[in-house]
Amino acid sequence: MNNILLYIGIDDTDSSSGMCTTYVTCVILSKLKDCGFNIIGFPRLIRLNPFARFKTRGNGATSFKLELKSDKEVDEVKKIVLENVQQLSVLQDERTNPGVVFYDGEITQELQEFGLETIRNIVTIQDAETLLNKVGADFYKFKNGRGIIGALAAISCPLNDKTYELLTYRIPENYGTTRQINHESVVEMNDNTYPDTFDNLDQGYVAIEPHTPCPVLYGIRSENPEILCQAKDIVKISEPVERSCIYLTNQHTDMHLQKVGNISEMNKFKCYIVEGTVRNKPHVIEGGHLIFTLGDDSGQVECAAYEPTKQFREFVRELEPEDFLRVYGGIGEGITPKGTLNIEKFELLKLADLVVSKNPMCDCGKRMKSAGTGKGFKCPKCGSKLGEDEKDTIIIQRNIKKGFYETPP
Ligand code: ATP
Repeated sequence: MNNILLYIGIDDTDSSSGMCTTYVTCVILSKLKDCGFNIIGFPRLIRLNPFARFKTRGNGATSFKLELKSDKEVDEVKKIVLENVQQLSVLQDERTNPGVVFYDGEITQELQEFGLETIRNIVTIQDAETLLNKVGADFYKFKNGRGIIGALAAISCPLNDKTYELLTYRIPENYGTTRQINHESVVEMNDNTYPDTFDNLDQGYVAIEPHTPCPVLYGIRSENPEILCQAKDIVKISEPVERSCIYLTNQHTDMHLQKVGNISEMNKFKCYIVEGTVRNKPHVIEGGHLIFTLGDDSGQVECAAYEPTKQFREFVRELEPEDFLRVYGGIGEGITPKGTLNIEKFELLKLADLVVSKNPMCDCGKRMKSAGTGKGFKCPKCGSKLGEDEKDTIIIQRNIKKGFYETPP
């Protein structure tokens, strides 16, 4: 008998008050390893559409692959996975609806498309269930089982572009307490491993540490999994690490963004790359958010750099009407019914010429004054005159250049 390649996807085990699907997966992986099962490659952490309504935080789902020898092993694995999802999930939270998918077939084009669809658009539990039945996958729904959406997507989405994330986990006694991470050692780790690792620091602040009561102690991102072990050795902590795991992920790949030809084709709760012209000067609204309108021949969309993007707003503030941009981001709820494009980054492709016209300078060195409507200009010092069309056009130096501008980690 040929070996069985079994994919397992898990999602929606956590709540905002605690737990994390990556932690549940890490515990399951340890138990499977302890039982001698053969895990193939890195587990995956797939970030799905950030605008999915029921997400807890980053909308992440996990999956991994095993090579098994018999149906008996498949049954043993399923038992371990389901028991642990049952035990570790925050089932008492009404928003936690775990889903687990077991699949031993080919990742077909249709499955890949479902994965991409879940990363870029909104899908339903029924969409996932229909496809799972069609491909003959085995799946388990706890409560309403919404997690089968992410569980299937984490198995099926293609990962042409990828990064890695090392996650370390705290012991349960420490959940909810201040994380004991030595900040100088994070700076040292960054000095030694950046740019192989990235998003470690943000303006001097430690960015590897979450600020939620979840089991994660810290996470380090890289395009190279080997460097992550080196980085982990440098970071000093004064609390125990229960376990750690390196995930293969679609973070930092822009996979959630779809290119769109014009603004009118965009819809709420989807993520896009779109080009357009700035229509008005960005202005601050209540809460410190910066807003402007982006337009093209087909229509316009309100764009926002929200307050948490902090210094990124300084770049947005420099934009002027007629600047031409490529904007990357997703459309969330906004002031207008069409929603607001939440900017993740933008590329300033063409700067508008910013000019002011002033009364002309006289040869004697004094700036001239208006001689009255339609009568041109007259020098207040020497009395010289100039015609109405002699105004000086002054080009204003811009404080921003062409190029990419990104939100902080
Ligand atoms: P964490 O990152 O801590 O694991 P989370 O932010 O991933 O938490 P979940 O608890 O997994 O949030 O909840 C997200 C829910 O939304 C899951 O049930 C998932 O199946 C579902 N979901 C994910 N993407 C989509 C989508 N594109 N359309 C509809 N539902 C989605």
